[in-house]
Amino acid sequence: MTTERTFSIIKPDATRRNLIGKIITKLEDGGLRVIAQKKIHLTKEQAEQFYSVHKERPFYNDLVQFMTSGPVVVQVLEGDNAVLRNRELMGATNPADAEPGTIRREYAESLEANSVHGSDSLENAKIEIDFFFGADEIVG
Ligand code: ADP
Ligand code: MG
Repeated sequence: MTTERTFSIIKPDATRRNLIGKIITKLEDGGLRVIAQKKIHLTKEQAEQFYSVHKERPFYNDLVQFMTSGPVVVQVLEGDNAVLRNRELMGATNPADAEPGTIRREYAESLEANSVHGSDSLENAKIEIDFFFGADEIVG
C-alpha cells in the first residue's frame, strides 16, 4: 500500500445544499484524511484554468459558470492509494452510472452538478494541490 495525496473539491451544488459534512464523512469513513481545506469562491479565471483540459468540450463554458455559481471547498486528502480511493468513493462522473453508496449517486444533482471533483492521477493531483495550496497550508 502506498500513501498518496489527492485533490478534492466539494462543488457549489453540494455547498448550496449544506452537504459539506455528509461528503467529508463519506471520505473519512472511506479511509481518507483531510490534511488541508478551505472554503473559497472560485474566480472565473481560476475555474477556466483549473478545467483548461476541457476547454474544447461543449460543456466547458457551462462548467465554468457552474463552478463559480457559489462557494466550493477545496481540500487535500491523504491515505492509502488516495487518488483511486477518492475516485471510488466519488463514483462515476454521471450520477446515473455511479454505484450505490458513492457520493455522486447519493448526492449529485446532474452530470454537471455532480457534487465533487477528484484528481484522476497522481501527476494531476500534485498539479491541482499546488494550484490551490502552499506547502505551509498542508498539515499531514
Ligand atoms: P470527472 O469529474 O469525473 O473527472 P471529467 O473530468 O470528465 O469528469 O469532467 C469534469 C466535470 O465536467 C465533471 O465532473 C462534470 O461536472 C462536468 N461534465 C463532464 N462531462 C459533462 C457533460 N457531458 N455535460 C455536462 N457537464 C459535464
Ligand atoms: Mg476529471
